[in-house]
Amino acid sequence: MSDAEYRALKRSIKRVHDRWLRIMHLESWDMLLIFHRDDYPIPQEPGGSNVGSMYIDADWRYLLATIHINMPALLGLSDERIEQNIVHEFTHCLVSEMHRSDPESRDHEERVVTMLTLALNRAYDTGWNDGKADLRRKQREAAKETKAAQAAKE
Ligand SMILES: [Zn+2]
Repeated sequence: MSDAEYRALKRSIKRVHDRWLRIMHLESWDMLLIFHRDDYPIPQEPGGSNVGSMYIDADWRYLLATIHINMPALLGLSDERIEQNIVHEFTHCLVSEMHRSDPESRDHEERVVTMLTLALNRAYDTGWNDGKADLRRKQREAAKETKAAQAAKE
């Protein structure tokens, strides 16, 4: 991983981090990001579906979280996938109070976190697109009013 790739990826992750921290109402959490430039062996979660790019250690009692990010593992991933991984790790904060250490509970936590991540992404995309559609509608209405006002003057 070159210096330029590392810096660009880190900037991109921080942008997504800041945006989703606000969206998910997690600003009160003390979130530490640790960027591992060399391959970092992400602890594998039971079920084995972890792609090995990020890992969060969240302590709901004190609103503290550390996210370990394996930078080389993110290099081939799309921006959308990286964003989804960050939202996934943030979602662990939301459910961390219910965390249990037995493997079966961990599987259920992963499933819940995965579904909440998909729902959050869908809600965000829908809100974003509806917002753009609303803006376009208002612009069309304003243009019609301007045209009508000009026609009335003539
Ligand atoms: Zn997870």
